[in-house]
Amino acid sequence: MAEEILPSETYECLRCGTRVTGAELTRLPSPTCANCGYRAFRKVRGQAPKNIKGI
Ligand SMILES: [Zn+2]
Repeated sequence: MAEEILPSETYECLRCGTRVTGAELTRLPSPTCANCGYRAFRKVRGQAPKNIKGI
């Protein structure tokens, strides 16, 4: 179920709402919020939010 992180997308931390680009997330060993350390993000787009976990 893991979804690939796309550098061109923007993601939002599910806990604190900090926004980070996919390019920044893929640079990390694992996608982690720089603000709160949470590891679940959703894509920021005009569509229904999708949880992204366990990547
Ligand atoms: Zn966060």
